[in-house]
Amino acid sequence: MREAELIVVGGGPAGLFGALRAAEAGARVLLLEKMRRPGTKLLASGSGRCNFSHAGPVEDFLGHYGKAGRFLKPALLGFTNADLAAFLQSRGLAVLEEEGGKLFPASGRAGDILELLLRELGRLGVELRTDCAVRGAALSGGRFVVEAAGGPWEAPALLLATGGLSYPGTGSSGDGYALAAAFGHAIAQTAPCLAPVAVEGWAFAACAGIALRGAPLELRRGEGGKLAARGRGDVLFTHRGLSGPGILDLSRSILPGDELRVRLASGEGDPDELLLAELGAHGKRGLKSCVQALGLPERLAQALLAGLGIEPSTPAALLGREARKRVSAALAGFPFRVASLGGYGEAMATRGGVALEEVDPKSMGSRLVSGLYFAGELLDIDGDTGGYNIQAACSTGALAGSHAAAR
Ligand SMILES: Cc1cc2nc3c(=O)[nH]c(=O)nc-3n(C[C@H](O)[C@H](O)[C@H](O)COP(=O)(O)OP(=O)(O)OC[C@H]3O[C@@H](n4cnc5c(N)ncnc54)[C@H](O)[C@@H]3O)c2cc1C
Repeated sequence: MREAELIVVGGGPAGLFGALRAAEAGARVLLLEKMRRPGTKLLASGSGRCNFSHAGPVEDFLGHYGKAGRFLKPALLGFTNADLAAFLQSRGLAVLEEEGGKLFPASGRAGDILELLLRELGRLGVELRTDCAVRGAALSGGRFVVEAAGGPWEAPALLLATGGLSYPGTGSSGDGYALAAAFGHAIAQTAPCLAPVAVEGWAFAACAGIALRGAPLELRRGEGGKLAARGRGDVLFTHRGLSGPGILDLSRSILPGDELRVRLASGEGDPDELLLAELGAHGKRGLKSCVQALGLPERLAQALLAGLGIEPSTPAALLGREARKRVSAALAGFPFRVASLGGYGEAMATRGGVALEEVDPKSMGSRLVSGLYFAGELLDIDGDTGGYNIQAACSTGALAGSHAAAR
């Protein structure tokens, strides 16, 4: 049997930071990773650029994780966004803050962050075993015995950081839920989140690729169209429906059958007044160009008018009041009916996971089994787009690693 002082399962950002922090504190750490190399999802993150965190006061982060914000507070305050950026910068990585506050490596390469972390692991003497899927773990005589290739492996502390269920090709295929459940931990129901939306009777396939910036969004539910959630953000038209950060963030509240209203007109003014002014000023123009003047790209103006049964080349002056009202209502909040949400193959995160009530937020330690720790997306945590998920993984990993080492 091979021994270590801490075994970390999973080499994503949570496991990597857990291993680093524990090794910095002097623990002999073994990191077991199922894939041929660690950090596969990290490499894919931010379209390969890795939006690793967000700028601004760390207190602002707490509102980006729904109910889990409170649980995350000690971890986020213990290893903040500024700490993460400083950690990377002090090891030679230049950091870029994009408009809106997203943080990236200035090189635009997620691989630079992964290389840096792996260099640190090597420097601190962490033993990394890849192609090494953990199949089971149990307590025996107060020590954890972990079943994996080359093992069994044994240690007085165990950190589970196996991620969620999204993008299973990256290695995160939900193994950690069974490992945690075997120690008696409850698993909050999992579901894909940060997922694109497929729309019923999608009539905008010709608009695929069009993006609306900072569009106000409303989610309405049930017979009376009761307001279920509001949002604002960039919206991307796809071949099947809607995506983009605004939709992905709202997807945490969206259910099939909901009506998703998207303001198509840019700016803040009343679309009916704006359209009326446009029609009055340019009566000889085709209606499509008046609609474009409210900030719609040509393809979207065309599809919108065609969908409303109005000929796009109709001279503006000939548009009747009733038709104008229909156009302006659509510009103010076009009602898309949600057919379905993208599955785990498309979702950027997983809702649900190891129930937070059974984990101590001050250490990430299990309240049921002494010496057992959790970090990252395996927990019932999901954040908005914008770097909040990787930051949560790093912060919970760092907290778990330092406490596990203290044992
Ligand atoms: C396409 C995409 C883009 C994203 N972009 C961003 C972004 O720009 N910014 C952001 O903040 N978030 C982003 N996310 C989310 C973010 O990547 C995750 O929330 C984050 O990686 C979670 O970190 P983690 O360490 O908890 O889990 P993961 O990164 O999923 O790592 C878990 C690791 O555990 C390993 N593992 C699993 N089971 C076992 C086992 N049985 N034995 C051994 N090892 C195992 C896996 O192989 C994997 O390497 C993105 C997600 C996706 C899918």
